[in-house]
Amino acid sequence: MLGGQVRLAAKQPEHEIIGEVTRYLEAAAADGGVDLQLGVTATPASLRELAADVIVIATGSEPNLPNQQRDDAKHARTLGRQVLPSIPGLDQDFVVSSDQILSGEVEPSGNVLVVDDNGHWEAAGTAEYLSERNCRVQVIASHSLIGEDIEAGTRTLFYRRAAIKGIQLRPSTALLEVGNHRVRVAAVFSPRNPTGWNKYLLVPGDDEWIEGVDWVVPVMGRRSREDLFLHLKESSEFDGVQIERVGDCVVPRLIQSIISEAFTLAQTL
Ligand SMILES: Cc1cc2nc3c(=O)[nH]c(=O)nc-3n(C[C@H](O)[C@H](O)[C@H](O)COP(=O)(O)OP(=O)(O)OC[C@H]3O[C@@H](n4cnc5c(N)ncnc54)[C@H](O)[C@@H]3O)c2cc1C
Repeated sequence: MLGGQVRLAAKQPEHEIIGEVTRYLEAAAADGGVDLQLGVTATPASLRELAADVIVIATGSEPNLPNQQRDDAKHARTLGRQVLPSIPGLDQDFVVSSDQILSGEVEPSGNVLVVDDNGHWEAAGTAEYLSERNCRVQVIASHSLIGEDIEAGTRTLFYRRAAIKGIQLRPSTALLEVGNHRVRVAAVFSPRNPTGWNKYLLVPGDDEWIEGVDWVVPVMGRRSREDLFLHLKESSEFDGVQIERVGDCVVPRLIQSIISEAFTLAQTL
Protein backbone atom coordinates (compact mmCIF):
# COMPACT_ATOMS: atom_id res chain seq x y z
CA MET A 1 0.00 0.00 0.00
CA LEU A 2 1.06 3.57 -0.55
CA GLY A 3 1.01 6.01 2.29
CA GLY A 4 3.74 5.30 4.84
CA GLN A 5 3.20 7.28 8.04
CA VAL A 6 -0.03 8.82 6.77
CA ARG A 7 -1.67 5.42 7.12
CA LEU A 8 -0.62 5.40 10.80
CA ALA A 9 -1.70 9.01 11.34
CA ALA A 10 -5.16 8.21 9.92
CA LYS A 11 -5.70 5.64 12.69
CA GLN A 12 -5.62 8.36 15.34
CA PRO A 13 -9.05 9.53 16.56
CA GLU A 14 -10.32 12.70 14.80
CA HIS A 15 -7.37 12.45 12.38
CA GLU A 16 -8.79 10.05 9.79
CA ILE A 17 -9.16 12.87 7.24
CA ILE A 18 -5.38 12.98 6.75
CA GLY A 19 -5.81 9.79 4.70
CA GLU A 20 -7.29 11.97 1.92
CA VAL A 21 -3.75 13.10 1.12
CA THR A 22 -2.58 9.67 0.03
CA ARG A 23 -5.97 8.74 -1.50
CA TYR A 24 -5.69 11.84 -3.70
CA LEU A 25 -2.04 11.19 -4.64
CA GLU A 26 -2.79 7.53 -5.37
CA ALA A 27 -5.59 8.54 -7.75
CA ALA A 28 -3.34 11.15 -9.39
CA ALA A 29 -0.64 8.51 -9.92
CA ALA A 30 -3.20 6.14 -11.48
CA ASP A 31 -4.45 8.95 -13.76
CA GLY A 32 -0.87 9.63 -14.81
CA GLY A 33 -0.36 5.98 -15.76
CA VAL A 34 2.33 5.41 -13.13
CA ASP A 35 3.35 1.74 -12.89
CA LEU A 36 3.03 1.01 -9.14
CA GLN A 37 4.82 -2.06 -7.79
CA LEU A 38 3.68 -2.50 -4.20
CA GLY A 39 5.07 -4.82 -1.53
CA VAL A 40 8.57 -4.58 -3.02
CA THR A 41 11.66 -3.57 -1.03
CA ALA A 42 14.03 -1.47 -3.12
CA THR A 43 17.66 -2.55 -2.80
CA PRO A 44 20.78 -1.42 -4.69
CA ALA A 45 20.61 -4.71 -6.63
CA SER A 46 16.95 -4.37 -7.63
CA LEU A 47 17.45 -0.71 -8.59
CA ARG A 48 20.47 -1.58 -10.72
CA GLU A 49 18.35 -4.06 -12.67
CA LEU A 50 15.84 -1.34 -13.52
CA ALA A 51 18.59 0.60 -15.37
CA ALA A 52 16.78 3.89 -14.68
CA ASP A 53 18.12 7.30 -15.73
CA VAL A 54 16.79 8.94 -12.55
CA ILE A 55 16.11 7.36 -9.14
CA VAL A 56 14.14 9.29 -6.53
CA ILE A 57 14.42 7.82 -3.04
CA ALA A 58 11.47 8.43 -0.69
CA THR A 59 12.13 5.90 2.05
CA GLY A 60 10.77 8.16 4.80
CA SER A 61 11.74 8.07 8.45
CA GLU A 62 11.36 6.01 11.62
CA PRO A 63 11.20 6.84 15.33
CA ASN A 64 14.58 7.84 16.71
CA LEU A 65 14.69 5.29 19.51
CA PRO A 66 17.54 2.88 20.29
CA ASN A 67 15.38 -0.23 19.84
CA GLN A 68 13.95 0.96 16.49
CA GLN A 69 16.83 0.28 14.14
CA ARG A 70 15.10 -1.34 11.18
CA ASP A 71 17.17 0.60 8.72
CA ASP A 72 20.62 -0.23 10.07
CA ALA A 73 21.66 3.38 9.40
CA LYS A 74 25.27 2.26 9.07
CA HIS A 75 26.32 4.85 6.48
CA ALA A 76 24.40 7.58 8.22
CA ARG A 77 25.95 6.81 11.61
CA THR A 78 29.44 6.75 10.11
CA LEU A 79 28.77 10.26 8.85
CA GLY A 80 27.60 11.31 12.33
CA ARG A 81 24.07 11.96 11.03
CA GLN A 82 22.13 9.69 13.40
CA VAL A 83 22.33 10.70 17.04
CA LEU A 84 20.14 8.76 19.45
CA PRO A 85 18.67 10.46 22.53
CA SER A 86 20.96 10.08 25.55
CA ILE A 87 18.19 9.40 28.10
CA PRO A 88 19.01 6.16 30.01
CA GLY A 89 16.59 3.23 29.79
CA LEU A 90 15.03 3.92 26.39
CA ASP A 91 16.20 0.52 25.09
CA GLN A 92 13.88 -1.52 27.35
CA ASP A 93 11.13 -3.77 25.98
CA PHE A 94 8.24 -1.79 27.46
CA VAL A 95 9.49 1.37 25.70
CA VAL A 96 7.75 1.45 22.32
CA SER A 97 7.17 3.91 19.51
CA SER A 98 3.90 5.43 18.38
CA ASP A 99 4.52 3.71 15.01
CA GLN A 100 4.49 0.30 16.75
CA ILE A 101 1.24 1.17 18.50
CA LEU A 102 -0.62 2.64 15.53
CA SER A 103 0.49 -0.22 13.26
CA GLY A 104 -0.90 -2.71 15.79
CA GLU A 105 2.53 -4.29 16.31
CA VAL A 106 2.17 -3.78 20.07
CA GLU A 107 -1.05 -3.38 22.02
CA PRO A 108 -0.31 -1.65 25.33
CA SER A 109 -2.61 -1.91 28.33
CA GLY A 110 -2.66 -0.47 31.85
CA ASN A 111 -0.72 2.71 32.67
CA VAL A 112 0.90 4.30 29.65
CA LEU A 113 3.18 7.33 29.74
CA VAL A 114 3.46 9.20 26.43
CA VAL A 115 6.35 11.66 26.07
CA ASP A 116 5.51 14.51 23.70
CA ASP A 117 8.83 15.86 22.56
CA ASN A 118 7.51 16.45 19.05
CA GLY A 119 4.61 18.84 19.73
CA HIS A 120 2.45 17.66 16.84
CA TRP A 121 -0.09 14.89 16.31
CA GLU A 122 2.28 11.99 16.78
CA ALA A 123 2.04 12.09 20.60
CA ALA A 124 -1.34 13.76 21.16
CA GLY A 125 -3.21 11.51 18.73
CA THR A 126 -1.47 8.38 20.03
CA ALA A 127 -2.51 9.30 23.58
CA GLU A 128 -6.13 9.47 22.40
CA TYR A 129 -5.77 6.22 20.46
CA LEU A 130 -4.50 4.46 23.62
CA SER A 131 -7.18 5.98 25.80
CA GLU A 132 -9.87 4.64 23.46
CA ARG A 133 -8.32 1.21 24.02
CA ASN A 134 -8.83 1.45 27.77
CA CYS A 135 -5.30 2.49 28.74
CA ARG A 136 -4.79 5.00 31.56
CA VAL A 137 -2.76 7.62 29.75
CA GLN A 138 -0.53 10.37 31.04
CA VAL A 139 1.29 12.72 28.64
CA ILE A 140 4.35 14.71 29.64
CA ALA A 141 6.14 17.35 27.55
CA SER A 142 9.17 19.47 28.23
CA HIS A 143 7.38 22.26 26.31
CA SER A 144 4.88 24.46 28.12
CA LEU A 145 2.02 22.99 26.11
CA ILE A 146 1.14 19.43 25.18
CA GLY A 147 0.78 19.46 21.39
CA GLU A 148 2.57 22.79 21.26
CA ASP A 149 2.83 22.84 17.45
CA ILE A 150 -0.77 21.81 16.77
CA GLU A 151 -2.85 24.71 15.46
CA ALA A 152 -4.38 26.50 18.49
CA GLY A 153 -8.08 25.83 17.81
CA THR A 154 -7.46 22.17 17.08
CA ARG A 155 -5.27 21.86 20.15
CA THR A 156 -8.03 23.32 22.34
CA LEU A 157 -10.42 20.66 21.04
CA PHE A 158 -7.79 18.02 21.85
CA TYR A 159 -7.63 19.33 25.45
CA ARG A 160 -11.41 19.08 25.71
CA ARG A 161 -11.39 15.48 24.45
CA ALA A 162 -8.44 14.67 26.74
CA ALA A 163 -10.46 15.95 29.73
CA ILE A 164 -13.46 13.85 28.69
CA LYS A 165 -11.29 10.76 28.24
CA GLY A 166 -9.37 11.29 31.49
CA ILE A 167 -5.98 11.71 29.78
CA GLN A 168 -3.63 13.43 32.25
CA LEU A 169 -1.57 16.21 30.70
CA ARG A 170 1.64 17.34 32.37
CA PRO A 171 3.47 20.03 30.38
CA SER A 172 6.81 21.61 31.38
CA THR A 173 7.97 18.21 32.61
CA ALA A 174 11.20 16.70 31.30
CA LEU A 175 11.93 12.98 30.99
CA LEU A 176 15.27 12.19 32.67
CA GLU A 177 15.40 8.39 32.87
CA VAL A 178 13.34 5.27 32.29
CA GLY A 179 13.80 2.77 35.13
CA ASN A 180 12.15 -0.61 35.64
CA HIS A 181 8.49 0.28 34.95
CA ARG A 182 9.09 3.69 36.50
CA VAL A 183 10.09 6.98 34.98
CA ARG A 184 12.17 9.82 36.44
CA VAL A 185 10.99 13.31 35.54
CA ALA A 186 11.58 16.89 36.70
CA ALA A 187 9.67 20.13 36.32
CA VAL A 188 11.44 22.23 33.68
CA PHE A 189 11.07 25.41 35.77
CA SER A 190 11.57 25.91 39.50
CA PRO A 191 11.79 28.90 41.87
CA ARG A 192 15.23 27.79 43.12
CA ASN A 193 18.25 30.17 43.27
CA PRO A 194 16.30 33.28 42.26
CA THR A 195 18.88 35.93 43.16
CA GLY A 196 21.41 37.78 41.03
CA TRP A 197 22.36 36.34 37.64
CA ASN A 198 20.88 32.98 38.70
CA LYS A 199 17.43 34.26 37.87
CA TYR A 200 18.42 34.14 34.19
CA LEU A 201 19.35 30.46 34.41
CA LEU A 202 16.93 27.65 33.77
CA VAL A 203 16.97 25.72 37.05
CA PRO A 204 14.87 22.53 36.97
CA GLY A 205 12.79 21.27 39.89
CA ASP A 206 13.55 18.21 42.02
CA ASP A 207 13.56 14.81 40.34
CA GLU A 208 10.47 12.70 40.87
CA TRP A 209 9.71 9.07 40.01
CA ILE A 210 6.41 8.23 38.35
CA GLU A 211 5.80 4.65 39.50
CA GLY A 212 3.79 1.78 38.04
CA VAL A 213 4.29 2.63 34.38
CA ASP A 214 3.41 -0.37 32.21
CA TRP A 215 4.45 1.17 28.89
CA VAL A 216 6.46 4.23 27.86
CA VAL A 217 5.86 5.80 24.44
CA PRO A 218 8.54 8.41 23.77
CA VAL A 219 7.76 10.58 20.76
CA MET A 220 11.15 12.26 20.53
CA GLY A 221 11.77 12.87 16.89
CA ARG A 222 12.35 10.68 13.87
CA ARG A 223 15.41 9.83 11.86
CA SER A 224 15.59 9.64 8.08
CA ARG A 225 15.90 6.20 6.47
CA GLU A 226 18.71 7.41 4.26
CA ASP A 227 21.09 4.48 3.93
CA LEU A 228 19.73 3.42 0.54
CA PHE A 229 20.15 6.96 -0.81
CA LEU A 230 23.67 7.27 0.64
CA HIS A 231 24.62 3.88 -0.78
CA LEU A 232 23.49 4.78 -4.30
CA LYS A 233 25.27 8.13 -4.13
CA GLU A 234 28.53 6.49 -3.09
CA SER A 235 28.41 3.48 -5.39
CA SER A 236 30.29 3.65 -8.69
CA GLU A 237 27.67 1.24 -10.09
CA PHE A 238 25.27 4.20 -10.26
CA ASP A 239 27.68 6.58 -11.99
CA GLY A 240 25.73 8.53 -14.59
CA VAL A 241 22.38 7.92 -12.86
CA GLN A 242 20.67 10.98 -11.36
CA ILE A 243 19.98 10.08 -7.71
CA GLU A 244 17.58 12.32 -5.79
CA ARG A 245 15.70 12.08 -2.52
CA VAL A 246 12.49 13.63 -1.24
CA GLY A 247 10.32 13.63 1.87
CA ASP A 248 11.28 12.48 5.36
CA CYS A 249 14.26 10.71 3.78
CA VAL A 250 15.80 14.19 3.51
CA VAL A 251 14.66 15.30 6.95
CA PRO A 252 11.53 14.35 8.93
CA ARG A 253 8.83 17.07 8.84
CA LEU A 254 5.24 17.80 7.85
CA ILE A 255 3.46 16.90 4.64
CA GLN A 256 3.06 20.28 2.98
CA SER A 257 6.80 20.93 2.66
CA ILE A 258 7.33 17.37 1.43
CA ILE A 259 4.73 17.64 -1.33
CA SER A 260 6.00 21.06 -2.39
CA GLU A 261 9.58 19.78 -2.51
CA ALA A 262 8.62 16.65 -4.49
CA PHE A 263 6.56 18.74 -6.92
CA THR A 264 9.49 21.12 -7.47
CA LEU A 265 11.82 18.19 -8.16
CA ALA A 266 9.32 16.51 -10.51
CA GLN A 267 9.11 19.70 -12.60
CA THR A 268 12.85 19.49 -13.27
CA LEU A 269 12.83 15.88 -14.49
C1 LIG B 1 1.25 9.56 13.90
C2 LIG B 1 1.66 10.60 12.88
C3 LIG B 1 0.87 11.70 12.68
C4 LIG B 1 1.25 12.67 11.74
N1 LIG B 1 0.43 13.76 11.55
C5 LIG B 1 0.75 14.68 10.62
C6 LIG B 1 -0.10 15.81 10.37
O1 LIG B 1 -1.15 15.97 10.99
N2 LIG B 1 0.27 16.69 9.40
C7 LIG B 1 1.42 16.53 8.67
O2 LIG B 1 1.71 17.36 7.81
N3 LIG B 1 2.25 15.48 8.91
C8 LIG B 1 1.95 14.55 9.84
N4 LIG B 1 2.79 13.49 10.07
C9 LIG B 1 4.04 13.40 9.31
C10 LIG B 1 3.81 12.83 7.90
O3 LIG B 1 3.03 11.67 7.95
C11 LIG B 1 5.16 12.55 7.27
O4 LIG B 1 5.88 13.75 7.19
C12 LIG B 1 5.03 11.96 5.88
O5 LIG B 1 4.24 10.80 5.90
C13 LIG B 1 6.40 11.63 5.31
O6 LIG B 1 6.21 11.06 4.04
P1 LIG B 1 7.33 10.22 3.31
O7 LIG B 1 6.65 9.63 2.11
O8 LIG B 1 8.53 11.05 3.10
O9 LIG B 1 7.78 9.06 4.32
P2 LIG B 1 6.95 7.88 5.00
O10 LIG B 1 5.56 8.28 5.27
O11 LIG B 1 7.81 7.44 6.14
O12 LIG B 1 6.91 6.75 3.88
C14 LIG B 1 8.06 6.07 3.44
C15 LIG B 1 7.62 4.75 2.81
O13 LIG B 1 8.74 4.15 2.17
C16 LIG B 1 8.72 2.76 2.48
N5 LIG B 1 10.09 2.24 2.35
C17 LIG B 1 11.16 2.46 3.17
N6 LIG B 1 12.25 1.84 2.69
C18 LIG B 1 11.87 1.21 1.55
C19 LIG B 1 12.53 0.40 0.59
N7 LIG B 1 13.84 0.12 0.71
N8 LIG B 1 11.82 -0.08 -0.46
C20 LIG B 1 10.50 0.20 -0.61
N9 LIG B 1 9.81 0.98 0.26
C21 LIG B 1 10.49 1.47 1.32
C22 LIG B 1 8.19 2.71 3.91
O14 LIG B 1 7.71 1.41 4.20
C23 LIG B 1 7.08 3.75 3.82
O15 LIG B 1 5.89 3.17 3.34
C24 LIG B 1 2.45 12.51 11.00
C25 LIG B 1 3.25 11.38 11.20
C26 LIG B 1 2.86 10.43 12.13
C27 LIG B 1 3.72 9.20 12.33
